[in-house]
Amino acid sequence: MGPLQIKEILQTTPENQSVVVKGWVRTKRESKNAIFIALNDGSTIHNIQAVAEPGQFSAELLLTVTTGSCLKITGQLIASQGAGQTVEVKITDIEVYGTADPEEYPLQPKKHSLEFLREIAHLRPRTNTFSAILRIRHALAFAVHQYFNEKSFFYLHTPVITASDAEGAGEMFRVTTLDLNNLPRTEEGAINFKEDFFGREANLTVSGQLEGELGAMALSKIYTFGPTFRAENSNTTRHLAEFWMIEPEMAFFELEDNMDLAEDFVKSVISYALINCKDDLNFLQNRLTEEEKNKPQNERSLPLLEKLSFVVDNPFERLTYTEAIEILLKSKPQKEGKFQFPVGWGIDLSSEHERYLVEKHFKKPVILTNYPREIKSFYMKLDEDGKTVRAMDVLFPGIGEIIGGSQREESYEKLLGRVKEIGIDPENLWWYLDTRKFGTAPHSGFGLGFERLVQFVTGMGNIRDVIPFPRYPKSAEF
Ligand code: ATP
Ligand code: MN
Repeated sequence: MGPLQIKEILQTTPENQSVVVKGWVRTKRESKNAIFIALNDGSTIHNIQAVAEPGQFSAELLLTVTTGSCLKITGQLIASQGAGQTVEVKITDIEVYGTADPEEYPLQPKKHSLEFLREIAHLRPRTNTFSAILRIRHALAFAVHQYFNEKSFFYLHTPVITASDAEGAGEMFRVTTLDLNNLPRTEEGAINFKEDFFGREANLTVSGQLEGELGAMALSKIYTFGPTFRAENSNTTRHLAEFWMIEPEMAFFELEDNMDLAEDFVKSVISYALINCKDDLNFLQNRLTEEEKNKPQNERSLPLLEKLSFVVDNPFERLTYTEAIEILLKSKPQKEGKFQFPVGWGIDLSSEHERYLVEKHFKKPVILTNYPREIKSFYMKLDEDGKTVRAMDVLFPGIGEIIGGSQREESYEKLLGRVKEIGIDPENLWWYLDTRKFGTAPHSGFGLGFERLVQFVTGMGNIRDVIPFPRYPKSAEF
């Protein structure tokens, strides 16, 4: 089906057989004795080298073979004379599918900044860096589905449009078909959402969890893997307005089980990438090493592959929020007044605190549990002391929070109390509360931000570079 891809051709034993190679020109080099064309079709980080003799093709044709042009090359597969590849193509024919005027084509064979490439996101998948990231992203997504399938989880498709304003109020994108220039009004003068498409206010989801819980209360183990949206105006290297979230939800799992699953799950998908994305990871590792060359030795990070293996091979540190606060209070930066934000029981840890714990104190991933109820969501199960909840955040070096989860409150009365306490109208959540009324059960789940995982695995510093077409404040061009 379809022509052979470069990845396959590169693994073929050369026997002078005829081959057809299709791809985009990365570079063309002319020497006295030969013309070398490096072709890439995105199936692998490696290019295939095609060689022609000088004078074999007209100058006119060769002028159209430039970086970015798309070619069909016919020739023979032979053992390569040059270093760096085992096979090459001895060209007999070139068909130019599409030219790319060098005066206009923005990707030239030189180093482009990631910022510049973000401005040409429609073309950046043609670079080594971005094609490597996209292949790794694919492999991780595949590993996610494989992991859950093997563990008897069912993939549940939760809605993208929601009418519940229970979560993330104020951070949501509105979905409407109302004419913004001519809004229907109620007698009191408010916008009349009864006339809107759904007959009520609707938004893009910030999480599939609440519906995920409904699934878990019937199928026992489910997961969602879909797009989520947050209108938070945070211009950080770790936030997108549109990102993909993986949310498993399990009946009969307590917090311990939830932590075990989260740890096993991330380790498993990272090791899948280590086994299946070697070439791309090696490329990205070299890229990072190159980038850090000018840094002093003690500021350089572990080589990418070592960092990933370290996470896979070592148990995550588990401790309570309260214990973490004690560590922070006794820490050097705290004593020297180096933290920007104050430390004390009850604070929402900021990223400098999380990074201290992960990168300086424990030097490995950390799972923090039992946070104060005030700083966590209403659906988390209250601890016996009534002060903390059965929450768990998984913190990663360089990333901070990669997973947020909890055991859920299964008691109808306690959950209703919490709903009212934070000012949500229970009417809006009647269907969610019903799960606690009819056959409630202990259950747990978590949310993993897929792009933060891809960021960790690829070592990319900015989350905008690990999704094909990022959405962030003032940017939705492509
Ligand atoms: P943070 O505190 O880092 O903003 P959060 O506590 O708001 O995250 P949760 O609501 O717990 O995040 O979402 C679960 C997971 O989704 C997070 O652990 C993170 O991996 C990811 N995530 C959250 N917000 C974003 C975002 N804006 N862009 C990308 N990933 C995100
Ligand atoms: Mn969180």
